[in-house]
This record gives sequence, structure tokens and C-alpha cells, in this order.
Amino acid sequence: MFFDPLYLIFMLPGLALALWAQAKTRGAYQKYSEYRNMQGMTGAQVARSILDMNGLGNVTIEETPEELGDHYDPTTKILRLSPGVGRQPTIAAMGIAAHEVGHAIQDAHGFAPMRARAGLVPVAQFGSQIGYFALIGGLMLQITGLAAIGLILFSFGAVFALVTLPVEFDASRRAMAALQTGGFVSQEEYRGAKTVLDAAAWTYVAGFVSTILMVLYFALQVAGLSRRDD
Ligand SMILES: [Zn+2]
Repeated sequence: MFFDPLYLIFMLPGLALALWAQAKTRGAYQKYSEYRNMQGMTGAQVARSILDMNGLGNVTIEETPEELGDHYDPTTKILRLSPGVGRQPTIAAMGIAAHEVGHAIQDAHGFAPMRARAGLVPVAQFGSQIGYFALIGGLMLQITGLAAIGLILFSFGAVFALVTLPVEFDASRRAMAALQTGGFVSQEEYRGAKTVLDAAAWTYVAGFVSTILMVLYFALQVAGLSRRDD
């Protein structure tokens, strides 16, 4: 089954989309990292300002060494920015920092998709490990029940990737609104920051497309196995 041409048909579109989204994100990030923003504010300064404007003085900002590894940790209320974002006064830095603050605001407001996503983390992890193992094992040993249970567990990864979409889109929407209403950006800078965030959003779309195609492929395999049982 690993040389199944059907597997390639289901796998390649997701892979191609993921590579395209990654290149698009890197390209936009590099381009807008070359433009200094008119306020001369670093990503960390922008993040601090928007956090304070939203009464989130309890959220602290730290640095993460990983490039584009910027993220908000809801369990510790720490916003981590990479050096290229936190220390640089660029348009890209503004956009990404504001996006991460968007997650902090979601957390403070108890944004439902974010809570659902957090709840799905352990299930999705279990599904991608134990579930995948059961799925492949069931298919190879031709045990339909095992493969079906594996498939159900494995498909939680697709649910997780789906719930990630509204969380990410909403964080970018909040970021752009904050940058505009806070007077951080000119029209042109607004468009630049939006280009960076829109590109990054495609990586999450690609993630969902990849996982749903894999679920569909394995669903066909399990269906084929159960037909052989009848
Ligand atoms: Zn995000």
C-alpha cells in the first residue's frame, strides 16, 4: 500500500499546497522585513502597546530563538517573539507581533474556537500516534475493526486542523484592526502587514487540506477492507 498510486494522488496536492504556502510566507516575511515601519516600533513594542490597550498587563513578552517561531502560550500567559520580530522595527514584525497579541486577546475573551482547539490537542496527538499505528496495523493485518478505530482516532487530527482555521483567521483579523485603530500603520503599511498574515494563514489551510486528504485516502482503504469481509 505504500506504493499505491492512489496514495500519491491524495498526498501530493496537500504537499504541494504546503510547500507553496511556506514559500509564500517566507517571501512575504522577507520582503516586509526590509521595510522599516514609520513609527520605528519593534514587534515587542507594538505587542506591549496593544496588550496594554486591551488591559492585558498580565501578559509578559519573552524571546524565542526560533525564526518565525512566534507564539502565545495561554497556560503561562507568555507571548514569545523571535528576534526578527521582537527586536526589529519592520512592517513584518508589526504584523506578526500583533497577530500573537490577537491570540492573547482571544484567550482573555475565552474565544470558543481557541478553547475547543486547546481541548483537542491531547486527542489529536493520541490520534496521530496510537490512532495511526492502529490504522496501519489494522490495514496490514486486515483487521477491519482495528483499522476503523484507528481511522476514527486519526481523523481527530483533521478536526484539530479545521478548528485551527477560525482561531488563526480571527487572530489576524484582530491584529489588523488593532494596528489600524491604534494608529500604528499607514495605509501602505497596513497592506504590507496584511500580506504577511494572509500568506501565513495559507500554511494552516494547507495543513487542513493535507490531513483531510489523508483521512479520505485511509477511509477508502478501510472501506475496501470491510467490503472484503462481507
Ligand atoms: Zn496564530
